[in-house]
Amino acid sequence: MTKKLSVVVSVYNEELGLRQFYEHTTPILKETSQRTGWDYELIFVNDGSRDGSLDLLKEFASQDEKVAVVNFAANRGHEAAMIAGIDYSTGDGVVCMDADLQHPPESIPAIIEKFDEGYDVVSMIRTARADAGIFKRITSVAFYKVMNALSGKTKFENNSSDFFAISRRVALILKRDYRERVRFLRGYVQNVGFKKTTLEFEASARVAGESNYNLRALVKLSLNAICNFSDVPLKMGIYAGVFSLLLAFILIIYSIVQYFLGTAPNGYSTLIVVLCFMFGVLFIILGFISEYLAIIFAEVKNRPIYIVDSIITKDGEELK
Ligand code: UDP
Ligand code: MG
Repeated sequence: MTKKLSVVVSVYNEELGLRQFYEHTTPILKETSQRTGWDYELIFVNDGSRDGSLDLLKEFASQDEKVAVVNFAANRGHEAAMIAGIDYSTGDGVVCMDADLQHPPESIPAIIEKFDEGYDVVSMIRTARADAGIFKRITSVAFYKVMNALSGKTKFENNSSDFFAISRRVALILKRDYRERVRFLRGYVQNVGFKKTTLEFEASARVAGESNYNLRALVKLSLNAICNFSDVPLKMGIYAGVFSLLLAFILIIYSIVQYFLGTAPNGYSTLIVVLCFMFGVLFIILGFISEYLAIIFAEVKNRPIYIVDSIITKDGEELK
């Protein structure tokens, strides 16, 4: 029986580079398919693009039976788009990649090789990134360090990316069991277990357009990721409490001694230091509690991760 690879591509306002992506990727997929015997499908998830991306995708779908478009009713973010792509995929292996050619489709043959060797999860590791400045590099390294320190058993590959491949059974587990509203897909992929491996790739610069991830989005993603995979911040309060109690105890003894020696100063500086320190600690803890509360709130509301407007294939447009 022939196997099939599902290539999932999330698209948000990519009209400038989308044709280049399609025209560059398709020959590679065709050639690989002939050589390895793996059939393929190319699933584009249009994440509420406001430019001409959807028209381009419709054009690809109308002339290519390998292409399917999952068209969202509104923008839901990159992770939701990848989840939708995985949900609609039918292949024995699923590859998630970006539409801006930062994730080279040239890696696909190597991924198929890994599937054939029996791996369930292939994490693609960036060895170089033409796009990122020094700030993004440093914060990225710091993020994975913190993540691994806090997340207990789940280990995250440094420099892992949204470029990854999973087998059918991992895709099914993600579909069925990982339906969280506040997500970190890269983390789930590391979290399910099974036989994992890594491959390296060089992230090139975007073909066209601009990155959609600004600093705020990155901070949000990192916070979500940490709070989703670790409860250490939630428990920080206890350590901070113990520490401040100790500090308070020392200060109390110190003040009492000073009182009896008759050298009690007016204590202004001590007060300021203690106040600033305590409020700092308190607000950080409060902030983290709010973060978890927000996650619980999102889960309790139980809203859909994404809403599909239409599914477009060569056979036409079917409304869901
Ligand atoms: N993307 C998406 N929804 C969004 C933002 C981005 O589907 O709300 C897609 C985007 O089209 C691209 C991928 O996610 O295919 C990665 O986005 P981007 O290139 O902007 O991020 P970067 O590579 O700079 O991290
Ligand atoms: Mg990109």
